[in-house]
Amino acid sequence: MSDRQALLRQIPSIDRLLGSEPLQELAATCPHVLLREGAQQAVAEVRQALLDESSKTPDCSVEGVAGRAAELAKIAARPSLRRVINVTGTLLHTNLGRAPLCEAALQAVNNVSRGYSNLEYDLDAGKRGKRFTHVEKLVCRLTGAEAAHVVNNNAGAVLLALAALAGGKKALVSRGELIEIGGSFRIPDIMAAGGTRMVEVGTTNKTHLDDYRRGIDEETSLILKVHTSNYRILGITEPVTGAELADLAHAHKLPVLEDLGSGLLLDLTTYGLPREPTVRETLAHGIDLVTFSGDKLLGGPQAGIIVGRKEIVDRLRKHPMARALRLDKMTLAALEATLRLYLDTEQAFRELPTLRMLSTPAEKLRERCDQLMPRCEKTLGNLAKFATIQSTAPVGGGALPLAEMPGWVIACQPLKLSLNRLLQNLRKAETPVIGRVQDDQLLIDPRTLAEPDEELLLQTLKDALTP
Ligand SMILES: *Cc1c(COP(=O)(O)O)cnc(C)c1O
Repeated sequence: MSDRQALLRQIPSIDRLLGSEPLQELAATCPHVLLREGAQQAVAEVRQALLDESSKTPDCSVEGVAGRAAELAKIAARPSLRRVINVTGTLLHTNLGRAPLCEAALQAVNNVSRGYSNLEYDLDAGKRGKRFTHVEKLVCRLTGAEAAHVVNNNAGAVLLALAALAGGKKALVSRGELIEIGGSFRIPDIMAAGGTRMVEVGTTNKTHLDDYRRGIDEETSLILKVHTSNYRILGITEPVTGAELADLAHAHKLPVLEDLGSGLLLDLTTYGLPREPTVRETLAHGIDLVTFSGDKLLGGPQAGIIVGRKEIVDRLRKHPMARALRLDKMTLAALEATLRLYLDTEQAFRELPTLRMLSTPAEKLRERCDQLMPRCEKTLGNLAKFATIQSTAPVGGGALPLAEMPGWVIACQPLKLSLNRLLQNLRKAETPVIGRVQDDQLLIDPRTLAEPDEELLLQTLKDALTP
């Protein structure tokens, strides 16, 4: 009998493993079913390694196998949706949850959802109320709109508006605005889903007011304008302004819907960012209905905000789809708290993480790199090479497509393992770290790194850089 066969018989039993110290220690915090599965999987791994003559002889001791079982049980017990440290510098990373919430929003969620709330209860009248009223006045005040409604996200807002205003009828849209966002939001598809017959007007780069005029017939019920949030047509283009479009539509008694995407409440040009129309300006041009996201530059929770003329917003509210897209209390609480900060512009820039990070000047990022560098070199100097370099990051989330925020980053080049291995280790960490890669280096952008996370980042880097 070979050594390996002898070892096969010595693999500890599941019960033996469950009684071992590593698994007993975990029993207080980890469900039994996961401990058992961890033990089974660890045994299967050892058995597999023993049967495979080409692999190294595995550790078959109780401590060895139980250690591995505990590791597997811990991984299985941790939540699937977890926080990560974002050092990509991209503020609105759709894959990383877009806008981080402000403290006030988190507190509001806590207050409102731990127990009961007046979600649909009118405290003045002592009878049934409507959930959207908690944010309607605020949204109107911040945008100048007559009425406002909120739904699950901006895709839902556009879908609801199309279904309510142009279901079974025709809607005009420029060929230059048939966008796709994030792979699943595509204007032609969303129009079809809303039961709207899409009538394309103009060409890819140029659409004239006359193209819209010629497209209108007795079956037309809406003109749709879409903000090209994640791309731009450069060169010879000819945008029709919102005001021109609104005048044309109103002459034919048609409403204009504009999907604004990110939906800015404040002008950001003072921070060196390109001019983008605010929601207030868009409405002031005469657009009847505007939709935008809650979790892009607004800096709040995922939501779709609809603003515009009262008579039109009321039509949306009465549509059956409004019920299917309604917001839950946690989101409403977070959204109201976020919007309240906008009543004071300075406060909004101070307390909303998205605006704070967006407005951080390059010199400030340089200072943070200068403070981080010696700490990296001191604790990780033997594991990687570090350098502070100038670099730009996109805003992300389909907001300000051509804006690159100038800044400074720390470039990290691993010495003891490959870059791919480092990235993999960082993803597998207890608190995963996601960065951006350029020229075979990991770039650590302080713009999206909260200062209290610096220590954890250094520790995670240390583990991940160690072979
Ligand atoms: C982001 C975006 C959407 C989708 O918004 P969600 O809130 O992600 O549903 C729709 N239209 C435009 C123009 C966008 O930029």
